[in-house]
Amino acid sequence: MSRPIQALIDLSALEHNLSVVRRHAPHARVMAVIKADAYGHGLLRSAEALSRSDGFAMLELDAAVRLREAGYRQVILLLEGFFSMEELMWIEQYHLSTVIHNREQLAMLFAYKPRARLGLNIFLKINTGMNRLGFTPEQFPAALEALRTSPAAGEITLMTHFARADECSRSETIAAQLQRFKAVAGGRHLSCSLANSAAILRYPETHADWVRPGIMLYGGSPFADRTAAELDLHPAMTVSSKIIAVQTLKSGEGIGYGHAFRADRPMRVGIVAGGYADGYPRHAPTGTPVLVNGRRTRIVGRISMDMLHVDLSGMDDVAVGSPVTLWGKGLPVDEVAQAAGTVGYELLCALAPRMQIVT
Ligand SMILES: *Cc1c(COP(=O)(O)O)cnc(C)c1O
Repeated sequence: MSRPIQALIDLSALEHNLSVVRRHAPHARVMAVIKADAYGHGLLRSAEALSRSDGFAMLELDAAVRLREAGYRQVILLLEGFFSMEELMWIEQYHLSTVIHNREQLAMLFAYKPRARLGLNIFLKINTGMNRLGFTPEQFPAALEALRTSPAAGEITLMTHFARADECSRSETIAAQLQRFKAVAGGRHLSCSLANSAAILRYPETHADWVRPGIMLYGGSPFADRTAAELDLHPAMTVSSKIIAVQTLKSGEGIGYGHAFRADRPMRVGIVAGGYADGYPRHAPTGTPVLVNGRRTRIVGRISMDMLHVDLSGMDDVAVGSPVTLWGKGLPVDEVAQAAGTVGYELLCALAPRMQIVT
């Protein structure tokens, strides 16, 4: 038998979550964001489950090429664009779409000699306040004009990204960015793309022509104040393992590295095969929720590289071999992430290469 930890990917949950996107944004085309190996769920299996989407978005050129070679005919967009002239060749050859977000990319596009007559499909990124990528509203008109005169450019879509769409306070968090976007994009008759999961769910006025859902497809909530279940999202990844040893601590005894947890009474503790080398967050403190035999209990002590410890108080039926859920069905990844001081996105993406993935 192999080590019992595994990540189970529920493909029907991905399909369901895509239908939730469609319900919220019935008039927009959907660009499923599958960067970072589809947020840890696996590129090709996720693309297959999401094959009804109108496009795919990612940052990794090799993944984009693999997707095209697997036969997908949708738009495949590179969210950070290209980093060299050579990559432009690949983009053209594989009919990929690309973001252009800076002058250096514009200059490369200008210098590029397209082999075919058909221009590249470009998403021109406007920095409306995120201040990460994109042309400022002031730089934008010149960038658009330059693009229009470039022989390598074909269809142009305007794009921006929100910094604070996930916050609980209402629309003032996106209003300024939306207004800046409209001020430069208005009246140009170009397709537009603005919304990530948070904006899809909360701000219909941002849906425009293309929405770009990521986390919601995987069943994570983009909001701290709303659970995935409240949003009708189903978890696509369940990480499970088993109890591989049981210890009985005497009052005052510590467990694990640093004895970071000490029993204040006699106590049974289960040792689970799963640690930070599997992608479980080392920062998860004592008290982080976990399911054992389907019932909720807590992590105790420090997370090791390959193991962690769970409180078995009042769980006399639990023994070596009992099932453990670290996150997923029955235990939202967002809850575990919050306890560990991070977000569900990070836990999903940080699955370790040694994790066995099953569908
Ligand atoms: C990652 C990403 C998204 C998806 O964001 P979620 O919050 O996961 O929905 C959308 N657009 C861009 C540009 C991104 O980088």
